[in-house]
Amino acid sequence: MIKKTKKVPDSRGHFGRYGGRFVPETLIPALAELEETYKKLKKDKTFQQELDLLRNNYIGRPTPLYFAKNLTERVGGAKIYLKREDLCHTGAHKINNAIGQTLLAKKMGKTRVIAETGAGQHGVATATGAALVGLECEIYMGTDDMKRQSLNVFRMRLLGAKVTEVPTGSRTLKDAINEALRDWTTNVRHTHYVLGTVFGPHPYPAMVRDFQSVIGTEARKQILRAEGKLPDCLIACVGGGSNSIGLFCAFLKDKIKMIGVEAGGLGIESGKHAARFAGGSLGVFQGCMSYLLQDGDGNVLGTHSVSAGLDYASIGPEHCYLKDLKAIEYTYATDDEALKAFDLLSRTEGITPALESAHAIAETVNVAEKMPVDAIIIVNLSGRGDKDVMEVARIKGIEL
Ligand SMILES: *Cc1c(COP(=O)(O)O)cnc(C)c1O
Repeated sequence: MIKKTKKVPDSRGHFGRYGGRFVPETLIPALAELEETYKKLKKDKTFQQELDLLRNNYIGRPTPLYFAKNLTERVGGAKIYLKREDLCHTGAHKINNAIGQTLLAKKMGKTRVIAETGAGQHGVATATGAALVGLECEIYMGTDDMKRQSLNVFRMRLLGAKVTEVPTGSRTLKDAINEALRDWTTNVRHTHYVLGTVFGPHPYPAMVRDFQSVIGTEARKQILRAEGKLPDCLIACVGGGSNSIGLFCAFLKDKIKMIGVEAGGLGIESGKHAARFAGGSLGVFQGCMSYLLQDGDGNVLGTHSVSAGLDYASIGPEHCYLKDLKAIEYTYATDDEALKAFDLLSRTEGITPALESAHAIAETVNVAEKMPVDAIIIVNLSGRGDKDVMEVARIKGIEL
């Protein structure tokens, strides 16, 4: 819970000591233009109405808040509710932001959008938004992620996007972001960069949060309708941090326990993980100041997670700020724990979660167990698991 109602970020994009705008000079005018346009459109009734219409009739909002009775009984503790972002068009919460930003790009008079993608979900969401509003689209993706998520690569191409392979560095998300930033620097006059999470230079962390805040706004109304009271605990997985902030931000002034779950990979000691709070330190990376997995010389470390969407070396600046205020607690789930939760939710509820969301489910089981039966937990089911089925089969040694 935060008592202070100080608005973050401040006018320069700072969440306390985090955030900011650490980019080459050439990008400053583009970010300033984006900030100005967004500020105007945020208050613009026509834009908001247009966005609402698309949320309702295209994305499929509001998404249900589902009482997971079987899982609750299995665990034998608090009542577990799932916020069903997996039911959004294209299968995850990322579309909430992508539709917002592609619509924004159109209003700014841009003709082209670019994006980076890790799991492929943000690429698919952006390609979808671009097809919908009529924009040219190019998606940057690391070679390794393209292999892990070949189905999503094909989906993006079906949607008319150009998918460009990034074979440099660790060949994952961070390298794709570097390429996207490079492209944007060159093509900034007619191109908008659709950043996929609450990260990067101001105004992205705030703007993406706003587009995702619909999750929490809905969940709050839905739980009050269903239970007549607020939940005791909120849980969500944290990659860059957009689905979690989207859920949490509607409850920040309430006395509610909130838990962000990072990717513990093969364990913190192994060094093969993406738990920025457990193993990182303060640093500047890809446009903003935040917690970062780095060595003593400030070189960014390689990360690992079974889920491509959580496999990133840094975390949204607002998360650092809220951690310092003790408004949100952070923990992690390992690959093995996430894989177990992937099976558990599939079998108990008939819902196969994305491997990212499975991290949140794993923590939910631990927490629910220790809570009384009249307590309530809302867990954000950020996406569906269809995209991960092949990878899980491969890990289990099953040939399809
Ligand atoms: C990308 C992704 C995430 C992680 O991103 P956040 O910005 O932390 O929400 C989580 N779940 C799914 C299904 C994703 O596609």
